[in-house]
Amino acid sequence: MAGEPQDDCLFCKIVAGSIPATIVRETDTTVAFRDINPQAPTHVLVIPKAHHRDAAALATAAPELAADVLRETQAVADDEKLESYRIIFNTGSGAGQTVWHAHAHVLGGRGLEWPPG
Ligand code: AMP
Ligand code: ZN
Repeated sequence: MAGEPQDDCLFCKIVAGSIPATIVRETDTTVAFRDINPQAPTHVLVIPKAHHRDAAALATAAPELAADVLRETQAVADDEKLESYRIIFNTGSGAGQTVWHAHAHVLGGRGLEWPPG
């Protein structure tokens, strides 16, 4: 069921604390942690604690929670003193989504080309 923890979900396990992560921020509804394979000096993932498969599913099922995630991306950028940064929600395997628990990538600390690859 949407929102319920999934036994086979890596990010649900990080939320539960059964897999370690370098957590940089936590709220009642969200967790932010450093990406294990960083693509920029700052590469933090912000996730809702509740399981939703991607950003669109999250926004449809729980719009206030989607707003919490977005608000936390700003808080991460502030903590990391980023003037400019990029928020990415890879959606679908063709776009590079590999973990099916909605997550915002916050990337910054280097020049970010546009358009991205
Ligand atoms: P995506 O490819 O958009 O689904 O993003 C998944 C991200 O999760 C990738 O950037 C991975 O490097 C990252 N990742 C995978 N396993 C872990 C982990 N155990 N801790 C932190 N980040 C992870
Ligand atoms: Zn999950």
